[in-house]
Amino acid sequence: MEKRSIAESARVELDARLVELEARARKVVDASIRPREEDESDDAAFAMTRALGAAGLLSSCVDLDVPAICVLREVVASSSGLADSMLALQGLGYGPLALAGSDALKSAWRAKVEAGEAIAAIGITEPEAGSDVAAIATTAHRDGNEWVLNGKKCFITNAGIADFYSVVARTGGEGAKGLSMILVPKEAVTSTLRYDLVAPHPCGEVVFEDSRVPLDHLIGDEGQGFKTAMRTLDHFRTTVGAAAVGMATRALDDAIERSKTRQQFGKPINRFQQIAAMLADSFVELHASRLMVYRAATAHAQGDALAGAYSSAAKMYATEAAQRIIDRSVQIHGGQGVRKGTAVERLYRDIRALRIYEGTTEIQRVVLSRALTT
Ligand SMILES: Cc1cc2nc3c(=O)[nH]c(=O)nc-3n(C[C@H](O)[C@H](O)[C@H](O)COP(=O)(O)OP(=O)(O)OC[C@H]3O[C@@H](n4cnc5c(N)ncnc54)[C@H](O)[C@@H]3O)c2cc1C
Repeated sequence: MEKRSIAESARVELDARLVELEARARKVVDASIRPREEDESDDAAFAMTRALGAAGLLSSCVDLDVPAICVLREVVASSSGLADSMLALQGLGYGPLALAGSDALKSAWRAKVEAGEAIAAIGITEPEAGSDVAAIATTAHRDGNEWVLNGKKCFITNAGIADFYSVVARTGGEGAKGLSMILVPKEAVTSTLRYDLVAPHPCGEVVFEDSRVPLDHLIGDEGQGFKTAMRTLDHFRTTVGAAAVGMATRALDDAIERSKTRQQFGKPINRFQQIAAMLADSFVELHASRLMVYRAATAHAQGDALAGAYSSAAKMYATEAAQRIIDRSVQIHGGQGVRKGTAVERLYRDIRALRIYEGTTEIQRVVLSRALTT
């Protein structure tokens, strides 16, 4: 039987299908991701995406198989935040097509996304429409047999490297009901601008100036864009929690190891009660996070009426807990913990965005409290 670290042992029972998937994912991570875990280049992003695709691991993303994506993100994120982001976006970018796309759009993109040969992206956020998605201002109007798009998207993962963007644009009317989802191939994008973020997210702006795409690139019905975007995010919220669990597991493993080997005052630092307490607190929070994530994933797969509430709770708790666990690990590493090139330093940067994207912690509280009171 495969040897697990103590942090990995704080786990839930997975069914045979997921156990087999996890083992395959570990092999790909060991062979193709861990050796490049410090490489933040686009070349690394492409190579890791193709490795995941070649091993058949991106099928769960195009199938929107939430429990499987959780298993994959947990394993992949423990090694590379960049690989985790690439994995997630293959699902988030293709998700609208999987949920509402025409057969023609699906057959044009599904196999390429699944193989990791085409890079997918989703364009929702704008400078004036972050948490408030219904405020989107990008427009798309009909002209003959084409949509003409104008506007700017920001914080778009895979900006500039995506082969297509699933874009939410205003096709008529105020608020959420005036929004539609349109597939925009990279050739129709006017320009992109990449940001320099604390962590390796290939993220930036995507600009449309009279960008033209065929009418049949509409994903789902006109006026259903907000709903399709929210349904897509619903599938991925729990998986963000799973990525956080993967990162926290690595941080706790490294903290335990360091606490055993680092000696001060003539003994290993784990003999000091304050260090031991940090390890115990991290184990408890990690275990609770994993239970919540897989409970939410199961609820989603079973179509449980409370699935949305479980997934908001899991995303909120697991990402916030992972931030604390990783911070403690940095503290246990002392000065080494803030040196570039150490895993905990990288995790400290990697984890931060997870509390913001796909609905901030505050928005999860809003969603959750609404579910509890309506
Ligand atoms: C690394 C990264 C990758 C991303 N990738 C993508 C992507 O691929 N596609 C995409 O479309 N978007 C993407 N985003 C954007 C992300 O979804 C938004 O950043 C997020 O929704 C928050 O929007 P905002 O940044 O405009 O913050 P704002 O909405 O301006 O929020 C600012 C603060 O106000 C709080 N706040 C806002 N409304 C409320 C409220 N009602 N109650 C309480 N507090 C509130 C927020 O919680 C936050 O603390 C990405 C973001 C990051 C950081």
